Amino acid sequence: MTAGHGPASPAAADSRITVEEYQSAILAAIAPLPPASTELAEAQGSVLAEDVTAAVSLPSFDNSSMDGYAVRAKDTTNSSERTPTTLQVTAEIAAGDTASYELVPGAAIKIMTGARMPAGADAVVPVESTDGGTAQVEIRRDVAPGDAVRYAGGDAAEGETLLTAGVRMRPLQIAVAASAGRKVVKVRPRPRVVVLSTGNELTEPGTPLVPGRIWDSNSYMLAAAVREAGALAFRRSVVPDDPAGVLPALEEQLARADLLITTGGVSMGGEHAVVKAALSELGTVTFRKVAMQPGMPQGFGTIGEKRVPIFTLPGNPVSAYVSFLLFVRPAIAALQGAGDLRLPAVRATLTAAARSPAGRRSYLRGVLSGDEVTPLSGQGSHQIATLGRANALIIVPEQETQLPEGDTVDVLVLP
Ligand code: AMP
Ligand code: MG
Repeated sequence: MTAGHGPASPAAADSRITVEEYQSAILAAIAPLPPASTELAEAQGSVLAEDVTAAVSLPSFDNSSMDGYAVRAKDTTNSSERTPTTLQVTAEIAAGDTASYELVPGAAIKIMTGARMPAGADAVVPVESTDGGTAQVEIRRDVAPGDAVRYAGGDAAEGETLLTAGVRMRPLQIAVAASAGRKVVKVRPRPRVVVLSTGNELTEPGTPLVPGRIWDSNSYMLAAAVREAGALAFRRSVVPDDPAGVLPALEEQLARADLLITTGGVSMGGEHAVVKAALSELGTVTFRKVAMQPGMPQGFGTIGEKRVPIFTLPGNPVSAYVSFLLFVRPAIAALQGAGDLRLPAVRATLTAAARSPAGRRSYLRGVLSGDEVTPLSGQGSHQIATLGRANALIIVPEQETQLPEGDTVDVLVLP
């Protein structure tokens, strides 16, 4: 091992590892963020770090599931359109009414959906099966005990587990927590992810382009991809290819980062691979070749006292995006102690031939439509012209160099 080059040893750099080996190495190195108590309204996208149980039985009181009339079922026996039963209406109970009502035999109480059942009633006749009367009502159907009644505890018993630790707080999970009376939940927060692109050629979109320069797309793309993965993104403007400037720029971001992503500056053996040069010095970031295309040169490790995970993604936009989806997205989930965020996989039929270099797994941009998938033209890692139409990645396995039209392939569905 060369002095000062840490784990980025020549041996590691020469051998290629598989996508799965690399994913496992990353996940093994990521510790979940500590849980924190969070207002329910702020919990979206975070991952629950405790079980949520029902504080009371749900519902907590017997109530009507329909607008209608609370009755004793036996008072409706033999009621029909032709032989209706007439009952006196003695009260009306709206949803939210907390008073106690009592139904006397032979009467009915008008009741709204969600309103508390009066004592003595055991069923509700839906308004559609009556004449809708106010002083008295014509019941045109017989009902059985329990009809249109939601009993206390019928949904969940007190103490029952409604959400288990590890679930991501999406709208439905937030609804359940609120229904269980929770204002604050213990969650692993959304990770704060800093995105930083490097390259002397990069210019901010919105400023004029001079020959030799390109507009920076990676930092915008990755910040969006980070947010799409449910994390918080901070985009740091372009860092020049200056070995002395890269480390300070990264260190400056550490205070607000749970994860760092750089793009560019990691090409194989290039003397302008400034990110690789700067981080190799630290000895905590490992650079490897992953047997895939696009995105072969990858770097991952930790930086700073707090050992913040850092990904150094290749500079080509397509390589950076595919690398993000395969490696960074699962890492964001791992920071939250969750195992989700892997892309859903489907099988589809190729509508055109697909090519791939020998010994590397290709992820080709494609358009998935029903059970057919079409590779886009312009599959170079730098080619963005057709990228806007892609909704899937077509996988061509390592051992294949050409798949004919009509073959069935594995396809990853883009988020
Ligand atoms: P590098 O990994 O720095 O050698 O860059 C590889 C290729 O990706 C070069 O053609 C770069 O110009 C391009 N590239 C690097 N960073 C970006 C970026 N932020 N946005 C768009 N293209 C980039
Ligand atoms: Mg560069």
